Order: sequence, then C-alpha cells, then structure tokens
Amino acid sequence: MPLVTHPVFASRPSDEFVTQWARHTSTTGHPETFDNVSTSRPQNIEGLVLLSGEIEVPVQKRTDGEDVPCPICSPEKPKFRHGRMAWFPSDQTVQFIGNRCARRHFGDAFTEAEQRFKMVDRLQRLQRRWGALRGNLDDIHEFVQSALPVINGIRTLRQRLDENAPKFASAVYWRLAREDGQITDLVVTGAIDQRGNQQAARVVLGVVEGYEFFEAGLSSSLETARAVAAIEDLGTDLPAWSAEAADGEAEREILARGRAADTALSDIVSMLERAVRCQRILSQQSMATMVTHHALLGLSSLEMRIETNQLIIRAESFEGNHFARELLSTSRAQAPTVPNTIWLLARGSA
Ligand SMILES: [Zn+2]
Repeated sequence: MPLVTHPVFASRPSDEFVTQWARHTSTTGHPETFDNVSTSRPQNIEGLVLLSGEIEVPVQKRTDGEDVPCPICSPEKPKFRHGRMAWFPSDQTVQFIGNRCARRHFGDAFTEAEQRFKMVDRLQRLQRRWGALRGNLDDIHEFVQSALPVINGIRTLRQRLDENAPKFASAVYWRLAREDGQITDLVVTGAIDQRGNQQAARVVLGVVEGYEFFEAGLSSSLETARAVAAIEDLGTDLPAWSAEAADGEAEREILARGRAADTALSDIVSMLERAVRCQRILSQQSMATMVTHHALLGLSSLEMRIETNQLIIRAESFEGNHFARELLSTSRAQAPTVPNTIWLLARGSA
C-alpha cells in the first residue's frame, strides 16, 4: 500500500475520533487504515501528543496476518503490535506508532507526552467519577446522614473516656492489638518433658471484640470532617475542562477536589464499619473478658460495666488510677445497612 499523509488535524482530534479508531483497530487489526490516519514518517515531533494508551493490535485479524508497519522506522514493512495513537500538531497528522520505537527515537518528547497522557487520563477519570457521584447525590446524602450518628457516637464516647480517664485506652490497647483481641497465656499442660520440666502451651483465654475502640486516633474527627466536606463539595460543579484546552488552573482544581470526592464515600463506609466493630467493646462478653483477665492486660484492677445507659470504668494501671462514667447515648446506635448503590459507588473509585 502506498504511504499516505493526511495533514487535517490542525487541532487535537476529538475523543470520538479516537474511540472509533480504536474500535476499527480491534475489529480489523488495521490501525493504519482508518480515515485520516497517516502512514508516512512524522516530520516534526514538536508538541507530540499521545491519544491512546498502549494498544495491542490483534494482528491475526489483518488481511496479511503480519505485524503493523511502523511509520517511524519501517513504514512499509511489518514491525510491531504494541503501539500508541499519536497526534503530531506540527505536521497536523495522526499516526499509530510503535511504543518502544517511539521511546527510542523521540526520547524526552515521548516521555513528556506520556506523562501528559497519564495526566489527561487521570483528569478525565476524575471528571467521570464526579459525574457518577453527582448523579447519586441524594442516595449518598441519605446514607451519610444515617452513618454519621454511629461514627460520631462511638468517637464521642472515646473522646470523653480520654478526657476523664486519660491513658487508659493506650494502657490496654497494645496488649489487645498484639493478638487481634485474643487474650492468651502460657498454661501448664501437665505433661513433663525428657529433662523433667513441666510443659506449657499458649492458650486463648478469651477474645475482646471491638478492641479497636482503644486505638490511638479513633478520637480524631478530622478524617470524618474531611470526607463530609468532600461530599458536600459535590454540590458545586467542577470547572469546565477538556483535553483540547490546557488550563493549568482548572486542572489543579479538578485534581484536588476530584481526588477528595473520589475517596470520600469509601472512607465513610470504612469509618462506619470500624464504628460497628468498636461498638462490640460494649458487649457483655468483651467487657467480662477484660475484667476476668485484667492482669494480662497490665491492670492491677478493673471494673468495667454498663449501668443505666452509662459505661463505668474504674481501673488501676502503671499509669495510675483511671475512672470514667460516660453516658452512652448514641454510642450504641443501630448501624444502617449499606445500600447496594452505595457499595458500588464506594468501590468504583477512579
Ligand atoms: Zn519503529
């Protein structure tokens, strides 16, 4: 086939053009036969723009069954399968070029174009993500409103405990976390080894569910405030931006606000799950296990119970005496089930 040059792209080809070209390529195996794709060697690489990620051409579908010719180094002979669609603004052409070959021949210009492609891709994904979240804002609001009392209730309890019984949480946390809430001890088995020594084995004496309640950082409300603010922000449009117009200011704004919104919902879901786990510390079983085995938690005494909707903790540790009597109020609020739409949205981070 004779080489062709179509200098028709004075401005960046549309996303629609690239999508249709990609479809043509995957069905025919001929990236170079789509309308207005040039097969001649690029003359001027200044301002090179990559329009696609790395594409593997299904060359078995080609009429010749051979590799794709490379406009840069081998315009008339089979050469490669993995390439990128590229726009050469100075030539006003688009060519499908071999990945490795372009890197070798174009050097820094290719590296820069690749970085720009990644940035454009990221911005477009954040825009789409924003649209998806924005389109479900009512459901998101409803879910967040039902999750916040649970998240805040358990955190408030922890904050009060830290105020009234400082260092109690840190005194017990690391021993509980060491074995994921299990309290274990060496217990004499009754067996005697060859040297006549008593045999001992490590035995699980109990499990304290919800021990994450004592973790450092649980009392901070910063993470929640940040996620809630990012969700509120969805009510305000992102600045208009498209890949054709390089607009640094709009791009920085989309990156900052888009990223915050991207993770906000999954953050709230994780906070809710953590709050539900923490609530288990208020179960009879968890409290009784801690009381029974308080010595193994480094406490010389422990009283921990619920009395008329108040949590009472009285303890003595190497840090001194601790006493707290806290109203439970919403600390035991029933958690909402996470609706399916919210699960899907939370997981679909860009
Ligand atoms: Zn080449």
